[in-house]
Amino acid sequence: MDLTTAGTDIARVIVTGEEINARLQELARQVESDYEGRDLLIIGILKGAVMTMADFSRALNRHIEMDWMAVSSYGSGTKSSGVVRILKDLDRDITGRHVLIVEDIVDTGLTLAWLKSNLESRGTQSVEILTMLRKPEAAKVDVDVKYVGFDIPKEFVIGYGLDFNEKYRNLDFIGVLAEHVYQ
Ligand code: 5GP
Repeated sequence: MDLTTAGTDIARVIVTGEEINARLQELARQVESDYEGRDLLIIGILKGAVMTMADFSRALNRHIEMDWMAVSSYGSGTKSSGVVRILKDLDRDITGRHVLIVEDIVDTGLTLAWLKSNLESRGTQSVEILTMLRKPEAAKVDVDVKYVGFDIPKEFVIGYGLDFNEKYRNLDFIGVLAEHVYQ
């Protein structure tokens, strides 16, 4: 869905679809170079990272394998608790693998910190993180995010995989929700 159709539900566009695509190409070149000569497994975190996984994986000019995990961090509230539950685990064993986690957004970083150490505990050779968006809070947590699409302000954003009550995931840009939608 584009901005014209989403209309007054959107207060402000943060990142356009064109900017997303251009940035994903840059990140893909970086990842190709960093993992040259090594097998790579990219793991998308459902559901938010679906768009980033789809576009990032197609931007990569090399063979990769893909798997998916679903975790719950927020529950029904809007504050991250650090309590993470695995809703869907990986299909395959990842012992000895080079793994790249693909996320939609890092806010407090608690979810990713937990996820990274969970995957490392499975005997992986390396675990790195790529996120489309990063909020300022993330810098305070001790989680090393190697690949970042965009640093954004501390606001609730939607689009390109990110939802509000399961809606707006199919926006082809990332924006801030207008107040009248959630008030
Ligand atoms: P963290 O543990 O880093 O605080 O939480 C990360 C998760 O919270 C993300 O994967 C995402 O599901 C959710 N989240 C954090 N900030 C936002 C936001 O601005 N918009 C949406 N839609 N989800 C967010």
